[in-house]
Order: sequence, then structure tokens, then C-alpha cells
Amino acid sequence: MTGRNEGLLAAVEAGGTKVLCAVARPDGRVLDQTRIETTTPAATLAGASAFFLNASQRHSPLAALAIGSFGPLSLDPDAPDFGTITTTPKPGWPGTDLVRHFQRTLNVPVTLDTDVNAAAVGEMLFGSAQGLDCFCYVTVGTGIGVGIVIGGAPHGGANHPEAGHMRIPRAPGDADFRGICPYHGDCLEGLAAGPAMQARWGVGTADLPHDHPGWAIEADYLAALCANLTYVLQPQRIILGGGVMQAGQLHGLVRDALYEKFSGYGLNARTHALDDYIVAPGAGAAVGLTGALAMAYRAVTGRWPEATEWAATK
Ligand code: ADP
Ligand code: ZN
Repeated sequence: MTGRNEGLLAAVEAGGTKVLCAVARPDGRVLDQTRIETTTPAATLAGASAFFLNASQRHSPLAALAIGSFGPLSLDPDAPDFGTITTTPKPGWPGTDLVRHFQRTLNVPVTLDTDVNAAAVGEMLFGSAQGLDCFCYVTVGTGIGVGIVIGGAPHGGANHPEAGHMRIPRAPGDADFRGICPYHGDCLEGLAAGPAMQARWGVGTADLPHDHPGWAIEADYLAALCANLTYVLQPQRIILGGGVMQAGQLHGLVRDALYEKFSGYGLNARTHALDDYIVAPGAGAAVGLTGALAMAYRAVTGRWPEATEWAATK
């Protein structure tokens, strides 16, 4: 890379509890990173900018910054609120203008996408979706988010997908729980994110026994998500990650429930082999930050980095 391309790649992974920031050489070697607690937008973003200004002084100027953020976000470049966090229930954060904040303080090109799309990019380049150009990355944690890659790039139409809020039929044995989504009650996230499981059973998923009937209900909802994603998008693979998926048996339960939901209809070579269709993430815990670094790389060069030329994977 030459000229401006010699500058550093900068990345932000903005979450509800913490914001991770990193700067890397153009070959992906991380030079510096930091973790900032998510407090008020002003304090949190000022901390991030200070980190990047300091890093650019110590190393070299920044070439581009990419952000993977919690949402919802406005990603339509024609919308007046483009680049902001919109209707988040997180106090103080609605209307936070991520793109302009970093453009103003760092004077670099800024790319913004959802946290799950950034993670999906990391999985595509370095994890469980290598070689695929159409797949879904799902995180089941405090919320449920779905990153969608189509044609080798994160999908965004008029705005980013919100598949975590899709409506799904009630699982057998779960007619009474009202659901906890502040907007929809019993959408997928309201029924199946970690806090929904905790509200329903009085204990967090990390402590729910493996033989608890709640797992079959959870698997039914996640299988409904996977069936719907399959029929709408025909992805080549669906990656299920996030804290709740760390429960050891859950991927298998989802595969079994998904097999039932398909009922033999609309299968393809990939959905015939569910062990290779519903999989765990493979790019490590920092995948969102790695994906954002790759997005910054793409902003500079016009293409994704090759895993073989990316320092962190060597
Ligand atoms: P976030 O969504 O805030 O980024 P996580 O993806 O870590 O965070 O998800 C947090 C959720 O994951 C919590 O509801 C927690 O109960 C659940 N969780 C964390 N570890 C485990 C585990 N080993 N097994 C099952 N659930 C877990
Ligand atoms: Zn909802």
C-alpha cells in the first residue's frame, strides 16, 4: 500500500458495557488497543478519540476508522440522522452521532456498521465462514443480533437488518411468558435472549441445568430463527454465537429442532448437512474488532484483506 495507505487502520467495537478500540498496521498487526467503559456518550467517545489521537502521534497518522456498534443505527447515507444511534433504550444514547464525532475529532474517513455485521466480516475472513459469500452471524446474548453477509459484504438496504426482532410462533410449553422486549414484548429477542431466559426461569442461562426444559424452548426459538433465515436468504451457513450459545448442548438442540421445522421442505446440499450448517464462531472473542479493522482496510484499499496477508492470523 502506498501514500495514504501507509497510515494506520483504526477500529471501534462499541457495546453496551464496553467500547474496544484498536489501531493496526495496514497488514493487520495490532499496535495498540484499549477498553473504555460505556458511560455517557460524551465521556465514552472522548476517551476513544483521545486513544486514537495518542496512538496516531506515537505511530503514524490514521488512514481510516471503522466502527461496529450496538444499535439501532441509521445507516442510510441519505437520511438526516445518518451515522447516529437511534432508538436505543440505553439512557442518554439515542441520537448519539458516532460518524460525525469521529470525523470531527480525528479527521479521517469513517465507516459505520452494526456490531454483528462487523463480527460477520471477521468470521468471513478469519473464522467459521471463510470462503463463503452468503451467510448469517447470530449473537444470542443480552440481545439477539443478526449480521447478514450477501455477495461477500455486510447487507444493508434502507437500513441494517433487525432479524433479532422477528416474530415467531410460540414454542410448545411457552404459552404464558409475556416476553421482555421493550418494543414488542414477545418478539424473538423478547423470548429468547439471555435476559428473557433469566426472567422466565429465575436463573441465568449460565446456571440453568443442562436437563432443564427451558433449553428445548430456547432451541425451538433459535431453530425458528434459523428456518426463517434459511427460507428468506438461503445462506450457505448460519453461525450461532454469543454468551447464551456457550451452553454446551445448545447447537445440537437447535440442529435437532431445525430438522423438525424444515420437515424435509426446501432443503439444499448445505441444509442437508446440519452439522456444517449450524456452527459455532471460529474467529475468537475479538472478532468484532477484527472485523472492524478489516472494514477500515477495505475503506482504504477497496477490498478485504486476505487471511494469508493479515498479520494477526499468521
Ligand atoms: P452481550 O450480549 O452483552 O455482548 P454476551 O454475548 O456475553 O454479552 O451474553 C450475555 C448472556 O450470556 C447473559 O445472559 C449470560 O447469562 C449468558 N451466558 C454467559 N455465559 C454463559 C454460559 N457459559 N452458558 C450459558 N449462558 C451464558
Ligand atoms: Zn423486539
